[in-house]
Amino acid sequence: MIRGEYANVIVDISHEKVDRPFMYRIPSELSDRVEEGSCVTVPFGRGNTLRKAYVVQIKEEPEIEPEKIKSIAGISEKDQGVDELMMRLAAWMRRRYGSTMIAALKTVLPAREKVGKLKKREVIRLWSAEECENAAETCEQKHQSAKARVLRELQTEELLPEDLLIRKLHISRPTLLSLEKQGAVEIREIEYYRNPVSGKEGKGVRHPLSEEQQAVVDGVLSDFDAGIKKTYLLHGITGAGKTEVYMDLIEGCIERGRQAIVLIPEIALTYQTLLRFYKRFGDRVSVLNSTLSAGEKYDQCMRARNGEIDVIIGPRSALFTPFPKVGLIVIDEEHETTYKSEGNPRYHARETAIYLAGLHGASVVLGSATPSVDTYYKAQNGEYGYFRLTKRLTGGALPEVHISDMREELRAGNKSMFSRKLQELMEERLSKKEQIMLFLNRRGYAGFISCRSCGEVLKCPHCDVSLSEHRGGKLICHYCGYETPTVKLCPKCGSKYISGFRAGTQQVEEKLRQMYPQARVLRMDADTTKTKDSYETILEAFSSGEADILVGTQMIVKGHDFPNVTLVGALAADMSLFASDFRSAERTFELLTQAAGRAGRGEKKGEVVIQTYQPEHYGIVTAAAQDYEAFYEEEMEYRDLGGYPPAAHLMAVLVTAPNEDRAEEAAKTLADLTRKRAERNLQEGRGRLFVIGPAEATIAKINDVYRRVFYIKGSDLQEILNVREVLEAELESPAFAGDRIPVTAAFDLDPMYGF
Ligand code: ADP
Ligand code: ZN
Ligand code: ZN
Repeated sequence: MIRGEYANVIVDISHEKVDRPFMYRIPSELSDRVEEGSCVTVPFGRGNTLRKAYVVQIKEEPEIEPEKIKSIAGISEKDQGVDELMMRLAAWMRRRYGSTMIAALKTVLPAREKVGKLKKREVIRLWSAEECENAAETCEQKHQSAKARVLRELQTEELLPEDLLIRKLHISRPTLLSLEKQGAVEIREIEYYRNPVSGKEGKGVRHPLSEEQQAVVDGVLSDFDAGIKKTYLLHGITGAGKTEVYMDLIEGCIERGRQAIVLIPEIALTYQTLLRFYKRFGDRVSVLNSTLSAGEKYDQCMRARNGEIDVIIGPRSALFTPFPKVGLIVIDEEHETTYKSEGNPRYHARETAIYLAGLHGASVVLGSATPSVDTYYKAQNGEYGYFRLTKRLTGGALPEVHISDMREELRAGNKSMFSRKLQELMEERLSKKEQIMLFLNRRGYAGFISCRSCGEVLKCPHCDVSLSEHRGGKLICHYCGYETPTVKLCPKCGSKYISGFRAGTQQVEEKLRQMYPQARVLRMDADTTKTKDSYETILEAFSSGEADILVGTQMIVKGHDFPNVTLVGALAADMSLFASDFRSAERTFELLTQAAGRAGRGEKKGEVVIQTYQPEHYGIVTAAAQDYEAFYEEEMEYRDLGGYPPAAHLMAVLVTAPNEDRAEEAAKTLADLTRKRAERNLQEGRGRLFVIGPAEATIAKINDVYRRVFYIKGSDLQEILNVREVLEAELESPAFAGDRIPVTAAFDLDPMYGF
């Protein structure tokens, strides 16, 4: 805990005011109780009226003339208002993830923007269902597939939010306007979705739950009523009925006078899913998405605060919706790495949700087909409740998965980037006019070296993560800094085909055009999705059948349902398998399993080809067999052995400076300081710590700023957090800072990717 005589407080809690705090003196009788996040009363203004205020920073030195500083009058009892909860949440985030109280507060508070209400339009059907059906058929014949898609939806829905059609069904505004001109629909501007999507069946569209589903709902709600507020893992493949369970739980939560927060990664927030929520909860539900302006977001927060809505759905930041009394937090696709913020503080939405639920007395439900190892571990040891949905309720059978051994391909003289099996299946699909998705995983790829002949991957002898190729012909471990000269021949089999995998999506696209000139190919990666709508445009084009093959990075694998896709190819499964961090096998397993789920969503059976140089690696084998438990067993053994999360905690410390020597020296000083503490802890028999590094960061220099990283491992979380505070204090100290070249440090607890 930070000690000091002075406190910066904010009197009016809002995003804008946190940068302009007022300084007060902490009277000695309160010094034990005042900490960051405390709610206090202070004399304010000329009349010294007592106002409620929140402490955002404790300081040792006064920042203004001491005689002008008034004293804190008292500490106020916890009132459990929304502000107080948000303040406590921010204080917890700051303690756990580092950064500052001010940055943490800015994360949890909405920016106050005057800009008016959320402007929305709704599309109202004027034609009969039959007219829509006939028109849809005509459009399909004329290949006006976007129009046809809207008309098909209008057959069953009399009213649809325009935003949903545009953003999620990939329909352009001109398409809708042209339908309006034809008299098929009316587009009306509304202030909010007053009465969204009633549809023919009305609100009562609900399935009687299966026995498995009912057991989850009963289990969670009866715990809740008995005062047991827990976290549960809901484990079940796509189509097993998880969303249906969430909706019944939300309903139970609303019946109990509470509100619900539903986190879904933006990319998985599909049209069908949103429509189901709108239909079930009407105007009591609101959707948060990244395209809303700050003003619109603020408006939504106000609605939540005033009790105008009960349910919010959105990505990570929806967690900070200021509901008065949350009863349930659902995190769908809980394994997604986007739940970890890469901003400041580097919080994980899952952990933060669980803490927030504790403040509200709410339950948490985590859903996934491929749970994160962290979550499954906690479900196994009883910390979380566990439910499994085993049956797929709709949608076809699981696809057939083929593994292509790329070493074999080389031996057979095939040096191309596609295996013979993949080529054969691609040709078949092209002739049958079915669609193909091919993806390369780039994220987290840091130039690992492998042998194309025997599959050997060069790894760090100390950390068991792959080495990365660096300038000057070096191979480096980004955890411990181990270095070795790059090799020309495979150390295992002597082959000269040893190198990093370099092909990108663009080369794949070019190759496909050469091989299949008649095929229409679309590419989706960071380059082709730079402009605002390009992402939607590409998806729309592919889903309306304007292309035969979609090539992309892993962004094409998640979330989208293309019923005509019957073949998915993972071109370089090893690329993510050997990214140089401890979660790479988990990410590969998850990605391949999700990819397999993309094939054969419609009536036609799907097939998947996984290309790899390591066909016997457990990450590949278990993904092909869709066997989560087998994967988990192997992976947990590796984590246990290496002391990686969830077996222990790991904190990455990134040290940056505009001068290479300074960065190196500062990283070494901080790492040595930690090592000293580790030695002392060992002697005193408490809080064991292991320090690894420092080493060059994955990206050793960005914008002329040099980056060094080191890692602290240990099972005592509190001790790791203590170390962070010691390091933070060291960074501020005159010896370290002074008038020398400035150094900054960033901390990442249980990171998703290395720095
Ligand atoms: P998940 O979220 O696990 O992918 P969903 O809840 O979306 O699963 O369910 C998959 C499909 O099965 C949906 O079309 C849904 O409407 C349907 N479904 C869900 N529960 C039932 C049920 N009890 N009876 C019939 N159909 C159901
Ligand atoms: Zn080899
Ligand atoms: Zn190493």
